Amino acid sequence: MMSTPRDHSDGCWIVGEAVVACLSLILNPTVCRQHLYTVESMIRFQCNCWCGLLLTLMSWHTQALTLQGEFVQGGMLTGQVEPGDRVEVAGESLRVSEQGVFIIGFGRDAPIESSIRVSRRGKELETRTIKIARRDYDIQRIDNLPKSKVTPPKRDWQRIKRESAMVKEARSLDEPRTDFLDGFIWPVEGRISGVYGSQRILNGAPRRPHYGIDVAAPVGTRVIAPAAGLVTLVHPDMFFSGGTLIIDHGHQLSSSFLHLHKILVKQGDRVEQGDVIAEVGATGRVTGAHLDWRMNLRSARIDPALRVPPMPER
Ligand SMILES: [Zn+2]
Repeated sequence: MMSTPRDHSDGCWIVGEAVVACLSLILNPTVCRQHLYTVESMIRFQCNCWCGLLLTLMSWHTQALTLQGEFVQGGMLTGQVEPGDRVEVAGESLRVSEQGVFIIGFGRDAPIESSIRVSRRGKELETRTIKIARRDYDIQRIDNLPKSKVTPPKRDWQRIKRESAMVKEARSLDEPRTDFLDGFIWPVEGRISGVYGSQRILNGAPRRPHYGIDVAAPVGTRVIAPAAGLVTLVHPDMFFSGGTLIIDHGHQLSSSFLHLHKILVKQGDRVEQGDVIAEVGATGRVTGAHLDWRMNLRSARIDPALRVPPMPER
């Protein structure tokens, strides 16, 4: 077996390399991480002590910020920082849980690049560019809708305005609960009849894009809570969305369920994942019985289908 005795100059070289590596780590983390790996493999057999120090520094650095989730328009990321750290995205400060968890949502047309900044007691720790993928969306044509539902008559404008303010209010709740951490399940199973981001052309006129996922199911089919949360809105019959229910999952992430036949919970109720909360209906502006499930995270409308496994085969 080959064994080379270490001399003093080797030791100095290792110390020098380690100092260079640490400095460049602070100045340029991306380049330096590769540098560190190289240094680490070179000194692994020479000095366990320095190796251990470098690994500690590396993990201290890389754990400043981790992000998991879908890096795509309509996606959501769950981030982890040290408890007490401050996180900002595009200059907006995010809620960070006591465990250092936070969430970021990307809207339908979110910019493909944004920047996230982590700081601790006013001192910047890391600024990172987040890149997401652009998506293509379906265009859906729906004809033969009653004219009154495509262009609301003037007498309904006040009602529509009032209802949209109620929905906005319910979605603005910002609580420290982290019900979203346990993941999501399908609130109802069936054929997917409408997808996120699609744009509808109703009776020939282009409308706002569709932000929910539609699951076709007969009137009366049980709807279950996709995740735990707090019921923030129950309305039996809104102009567009009919029977409407909103559940807040914490950190201003909410699920909305539209066109319901019956709602089986009350405003202020706490629900657990899997609890029966409502029945599928065909209320409001619809062409048939289905559940329209939407998700909002702060100002972003995100895609619920990305939060759940593929729809089971039937
Ligand atoms: Zn829908």
